Amino acid sequence: MQGEVTELQVHFWLVLVMFALAAQAFILLLLVNAPYGRFTRAGWGPTLSTRSAWIIFESPAVVVFAAIYFSGDYAWERVPLILFGIWQFHYILRTIIFPFRIRETGKRIPMVMVVVAILFNVLNAYLNARWISHLGDYPDTWLMPAPFIAGASISVVGWLINQHADRVLFNLRKPGETHYVIPQGGMYRQVSCPNYFGEILEWTGWAIMTWSLAGLAFAVLTLANLLPRALATHKWYRAKFPDYPESRRAVIPYVV
Ligand code: NDP
Repeated sequence: MQGEVTELQVHFWLVLVMFALAAQAFILLLLVNAPYGRFTRAGWGPTLSTRSAWIIFESPAVVVFAAIYFSGDYAWERVPLILFGIWQFHYILRTIIFPFRIRETGKRIPMVMVVVAILFNVLNAYLNARWISHLGDYPDTWLMPAPFIAGASISVVGWLINQHADRVLFNLRKPGETHYVIPQGGMYRQVSCPNYFGEILEWTGWAIMTWSLAGLAFAVLTLANLLPRALATHKWYRAKFPDYPESRRAVIPYVV
């Protein structure tokens, strides 16, 4: 019917909302450090343990994503299934394995952050899952052309960097310890936050391999979220450790 709003239009507007949120988040996070980890501070209302918070706020990226994905008309086709597998591989590890690798130090995450992260994950799950299994077009030939191969390669490299960087951090403390140490080795030779660099690469790769606005919006939001955090972390390291390596950048090797 003429004048009827289609789901494709709604999806497009929500992608624009995501870009707007990324711009807002970027400015806000340059002004205020998200209050968790080394920037934990009081005054943000009720809190949850770090481990429970991660499990709760990342769950929609697995569960809501899967529910929306399997409601799509093309959910059982080859390329959408491969993209689904790539997404779920990352988020199942992040939701179920990663929280148990965190060494609990008694730090907590404000509920308000948990709620914001849940809302973001639900929106992001809808945008990406609906696109790959219903609104987008991914014929079998999608697997060969340059965008898929280049994007998948960037994503895999990003994942490896992220995993290695997180492992280095988790091994810096013995059980019961809460202090901070200068991380060394791997990409820590170049940047203070290779875990964030890897994460940014992963979702940039996703945007390229899906060649979608939904994927691009997620990659931009990841950058908007992690770049300010990396700059703040880098500044924090320099202030805390007088012998902090001079040549190390914040997050993108040789750039920033
Ligand atoms: P951090 O680097 O802040 O911390 C990770 C863990 O390592 C924490 O347990 C932290 O302890 C510990 N740690 C960090 N630095 C040191 C140090 N110098 N010495 C000893 N221990 C240290 O990472 P985040 O918690 O921000 O992120 C964790 C993962 O989640 C990363 O892989 C990141 O890429 C991903 N992430 C993804 C986002 C996205 O937008 N897609 C958003 C945020 C995170 P403590 O808590 O005491 O500081």
